Amino acid sequence: MPHNRADIIEVAIPLPLDRTFHYSVPEPLRPRVRQGVRVFVPFGRRKVTGYVLGPAAHPGAELKDIIDILDDEPLFTSRELVFYRWIASYYLHPLGEVIKTALPAGINLQSRRGNTDEAGGHAGEIIRGGRSILRERFYRTTDGAAESASIRGMGAQILLFLLEHGETSRSILNRRFPNPSAPLKRLVERGLVTLEEREVYRDPFAEEVFERTEPLALNESQSAAFQGISSAISGGDFAPFLLHGVTGSGKTEVYLHAIAHALALGKTALMLTPEIALTPQLIRRFRGRFSEGIAVLHSGLSPGERYDEWRRIRRGQVSIVIGARSAIFAPLENPGIIVVDEEHEASYKQSEGVTYNARDLALVRGKMEKAAVVLGSATPLITTFHAARNGKLHYLGLHERVRGLSLPETRILDVRRLKNAALSPELADALARNLEEGGQSLLFLNRRGFATFLVCRDCGHVFRCPNCSVTLTYHRSKQRHFCHYCDFSIPAPSVCPGCKGADIGLFGKGTERLEDEVKELFPEARVARMDSDTTTGRGGHARILKRLEEGAIDILIGTQMIAKGHDYPGVTLVGVVCADSTLNLPDFRGAERTFQLVTQVMGRAGRGDAPGKVLIQGMAPDHYALVRAASHDYEGFYEDELRFRQETGYPPYSHLALLNLSCTTEKPLEESALEAARILRDLRRDMGARMEILGPAPAPLAKVRGRYRRQILLKSPNRADMKKALTGFRTLWNPSRIIRTNVDIDPVDTL
Ligand code: ADP
Ligand code: ZN
Repeated sequence: MPHNRADIIEVAIPLPLDRTFHYSVPEPLRPRVRQGVRVFVPFGRRKVTGYVLGPAAHPGAELKDIIDILDDEPLFTSRELVFYRWIASYYLHPLGEVIKTALPAGINLQSRRGNTDEAGGHAGEIIRGGRSILRERFYRTTDGAAESASIRGMGAQILLFLLEHGETSRSILNRRFPNPSAPLKRLVERGLVTLEEREVYRDPFAEEVFERTEPLALNESQSAAFQGISSAISGGDFAPFLLHGVTGSGKTEVYLHAIAHALALGKTALMLTPEIALTPQLIRRFRGRFSEGIAVLHSGLSPGERYDEWRRIRRGQVSIVIGARSAIFAPLENPGIIVVDEEHEASYKQSEGVTYNARDLALVRGKMEKAAVVLGSATPLITTFHAARNGKLHYLGLHERVRGLSLPETRILDVRRLKNAALSPELADALARNLEEGGQSLLFLNRRGFATFLVCRDCGHVFRCPNCSVTLTYHRSKQRHFCHYCDFSIPAPSVCPGCKGADIGLFGKGTERLEDEVKELFPEARVARMDSDTTTGRGGHARILKRLEEGAIDILIGTQMIAKGHDYPGVTLVGVVCADSTLNLPDFRGAERTFQLVTQVMGRAGRGDAPGKVLIQGMAPDHYALVRAASHDYEGFYEDELRFRQETGYPPYSHLALLNLSCTTEKPLEESALEAARILRDLRRDMGARMEILGPAPAPLAKVRGRYRRQILLKSPNRADMKKALTGFRTLWNPSRIIRTNVDIDPVDTL
């Protein structure tokens, strides 16, 4: 059969293959094939789902026919395809996998199977994980309703409520008024209220009634920030901003104003927030301000619910999307503003599969969509602040807390000689006093189970790699301490090179007992713990925070979950139990993480009228990250840390890529890793490129889910060189099938 262009298509397949494929479309399916739909295709001996990229020229060779077309409507637009292609090329991942990552998983619950023999295809049934769409009644006031004085009783109350809240669903009215049926019916009969029934998607926040909140009058620095952002939105060109505001300085209020401005211009808005910050408080503020057209994408949604939200967005029924990392792919049309709140958060980085960073993609997408992009943080990444200093981002600063609240008084406590207790006498005293005065306390404990490093308990000396400046990590199987960047290692030393003392040990003991210790010291206090164990299940986390808010908890102990985004006026004391565990993460960003964490934690204290107090325990009380955080000195920290980055050649003075290899057995992995490093070093030599290749070395988490892990770190001042080397590597790299390879561009966590 002769082929013309339209019946040959290019298809991306979500498999680890670096190319796309061509298929022919049989006559009966042709009317339905178009860019952005999924097709079912034969692939080797399998049948797989692929994505239609567009028509293609006949490549000459014999082509296979597609088996079926799975969608009536395209799942992505050509504009989105440009975005996907950018990601595939930058992160060195197959386009098919990028598309699969970008689309909601729930799409696969919708399976259509039809008879493809008949002309025009079929009309299959839609099955969606057993969920159906609900029908809901909506009420809204008509024009004359406001003047109607003759309504009394509950009818009047309902009318007032509708006038105030705009269109309201029946389920909300049912919760708000006892038996609203009869009065509603009368209001409709009198023509004061209209009733409309339509399809709704389940809304995870529908159960709450949101009090309308009026925009607050902005203070001077907020107005200046708003002016900058809003004129960029009006200008309709790409404009990237850093909104640097101390905690409680009113950043969120600026986002709300800027988003309102975008909506007023008929544009939409995308708000990214770390999952952890998707607190009911934030959602409530948005719902209170914008009554309709908000989609919230969070990890508590089932795939079906997520898919519902996605379709609502695709159909243009949504003007604001709030979500974590993956919301960067939300199919919003015409975004005027993209906000990345807490831009420094590591959770914007996807650590598996396509290792994209939503914070970086916000800038890419913003550029494509000609939108304003606002990166907001109290503690911007060093690289972000550096970009602002170099004019790549417009700097907007909010340097004071609103309502003249002062930042909390902060002290660093030296706990080097504190051997068996988790709480120093000073911190225990402060807890006792706060308890007496009726204040609430947060105890913050950051402990990642695996990261054990050597420390001298007398002087606090920590053992680091002489080449890479990162903490050495203990690997029990080898009984040695490794640098997991360059593979340098030492046996356990018996004498501290700092103080010649002999009390050297692995760090991390003693902290597990914190809850017991607190309960023992304060048997009368109401103590709660919040970590991944106590917050499993939907809303577990919100439940504990609600109890805190209601004053039902005196002392809350928690991991980083408690550090962020929450605004609880009753909290007057915050204790950081050991600042060392982040400071000594085997990662060059340890100091940066510590500064961020301590600052965020400090932001939790004294949000109400009583001034707050913060106590930080650490074995390196003079470390600049702690000292600068305690004195609320971001710029000072930036200067110190930038000097360290310059001396060691870490970003912003280089770009990084991490090659991860894993295998269920160690021996072949070690051999493959050496081979991979050899290929890379050969490529570097042929290119004559300036690029460091560190490793292979065992990953700090040397074994995860039964797989051993080794890594090679690439460090280069030139991004193009690195990309060229990795692209070359991918064509030459052909390991045994038991080895898994993943390339992580701009790794955030090298653990
Ligand atoms: P951030 O996001 O920087 O932590 P928020 O926007 O959450 O700050 O503001 C902190 C608190 O101050 C909130 O309770 C908020 O309602 C209030 N607030 C913000 N801006 C103003 C303002 N201009 N006037 C009065 N209160 C404000
Ligand atoms: Zn090293």
